[in-house]
Amino acid sequence: MLHTFFSDLYHTFSFYIFCNFESITILKEMHELSIALGIVKIAEDETKKANAKKVSKIELEIGVLAGVEIDSLNFVWSSAVEETVLEHAEKEIIVIEGKGKCIDCDTEFYMENIYDCCPKCGSNFKGILKGKELKVKSLEVI
Ligand SMILES: [Zn+2]
Repeated sequence: MLHTFFSDLYHTFSFYIFCNFESITILKEMHELSIALGIVKIAEDETKKANAKKVSKIELEIGVLAGVEIDSLNFVWSSAVEETVLEHAEKEIIVIEGKGKCIDCDTEFYMENIYDCCPKCGSNFKGILKGKELKVKSLEVI
């Protein structure tokens, strides 16, 4: 049974108000853990809606500008999905490249960081064309 849907998880992250806390690493992983738990919630809801028992495969789309460290997400994944419908699911992460368009000179350019400025005119004003995705692209349930 293939059950496909789109869900946008992107939101602003309140964890960063604690940035003066000493262990930034732990906070980073808490950030990815909260994302993983959000994905588990979506998977649980959708599996129930589809009258299925568990997820066999999940595809995630993550933009390079989404503020998610994929290594950290992979690190917290197994504990986040333990004893959930996702426990034995194959996970595929599709990384979306970052692209912006300069508001001052209309140049389109690739971005690795949200703070990247226009390579042609140096302007900081740009629209993000892609790269902020953070979504569950598809779930296969059984
Ligand atoms: Zn420019």
